[in-house]
Amino acid sequence: MSIQKILTEPNKILRQKSIEVENVDKDIQKLMDDMLETVYAAPGIGLAAIQIGVPKRVIVMDISRDRDKEPKNPMYFINPKIVWKSENLNIYEEGCLSVPNQFAEINRPKECHFKYLDYNGEPQEKKADGLLATCIQHEMDHLEGILFIDYLSKLKKTMIIKKLSKQKKEAVDRIVV
Ligand code: ZN
Repeated sequence: MSIQKILTEPNKILRQKSIEVENVDKDIQKLMDDMLETVYAAPGIGLAAIQIGVPKRVIVMDISRDRDKEPKNPMYFINPKIVWKSENLNIYEEGCLSVPNQFAEINRPKECHFKYLDYNGEPQEKKADGLLATCIQHEMDHLEGILFIDYLSKLKKTMIIKKLSKQKKEAVDRIVV
């Protein structure tokens, strides 16, 4: 397993639509292992493959509170599809590993049911509520090239992107020794 570099906004790759996985083979499992290691190291609670530059519909997540303790509770979602969403909404302050150090309150359906393939390629269905529902919707947006800042006003979004571009430039300058 190896830790991968997480792409950050602004980056065109993050805006591309990911494609369905046809076969859950060893390569896809290796991808999921790398993604899990990357999300634990970040640290974050979820990651979509496109965030490490792989445009495949693959998500890994661990939302457990004691995630530093063993046994860990990783979840793997391949080709996820929402089959039902509640009308009730929930608000969480969201952040994203691809939008570093920026947070905003986002409204999303409080509950959702979704289908997916698991780590072994077996079809599964899950009923999600609260944090899991918000996380899976956030990650599934990544598969469509959508980031949480897209839900903000144009002004707020532009400000965040400007800030991130500046941070990136400064970071590049700092590497020069
Ligand atoms: Zn994200």
